[in-house]
Amino acid sequence: MKSRSIAPALGALILVNRSHPLQGVPCPELAAPDPAHPHLLMERRAALLLAACIRDAGARGRIVPVSGWRSHKEQQEIWDDTMAKEGEAFTRQYVAFPGCSEHESGLAIDLAQTAPEIDFIRPEFPYDGVCGDFRRLAPRYGFVERYRADKQAITGIAAEPWHFRYVGIPHALLMENRRLCLEEYIDLLRQQELACTLENGSCIRVRRLDVPDLQNWNRPSTGTYQLSLDNTGGVIVTQWEGTL
Ligand SMILES: [Zn+2]
Repeated sequence: MKSRSIAPALGALILVNRSHPLQGVPCPELAAPDPAHPHLLMERRAALLLAACIRDAGARGRIVPVSGWRSHKEQQEIWDDTMAKEGEAFTRQYVAFPGCSEHESGLAIDLAQTAPEIDFIRPEFPYDGVCGDFRRLAPRYGFVERYRADKQAITGIAAEPWHFRYVGIPHALLMENRRLCLEEYIDLLRQQELACTLENGSCIRVRRLDVPDLQNWNRPSTGTYQLSLDNTGGVIVTQWEGTL
């Protein structure tokens, strides 16, 4: 039988942390989520969904993006600069090591409540008011609060209430419902398949395969599916199975 080659895209579920750096990743297709800040970019789909979430939270002009996609060089400059100004302990706590920052993937965004002075490294993004409204809505647009205080031992990053990561809509909902960070979510998918039903009634199934097993995977003949590498040697298969 002829073997079928499937090359998954890097995708929205790549894990980026100190143990899983980005390596040789091409620059994603970028767009500005907020036309008032055209220099501030994210991966194109993440940018569209962020703009929609801000609009639907009634937060236009009240929440501003302060840092989106960064090149490796920019991450290195932020690291060097913070190290010089704030010292090693602060830098290690709040700045990801170059190559290990989600910002280099284009899938992360730092947000701030609009204010005359905004701290670039630790922007103010409270849990109440308009920021709270955005936070509650975010998983429905595929975003998760990536670094929660209670997950510091797993993520290795101190609480960052301002840093949101695009993982895609079914995944953000599954992670939020189970209070899982991305490291835990990928670990859970190593053990079991997950399913979720969206508000529109469509049923979605999520499973993880080791990359070599993908060649033997039976591609579904109906419905749609999406593949995303997870940067831990796996590929996450998201399958839409129509409405129930
Ligand atoms: Zn950030």
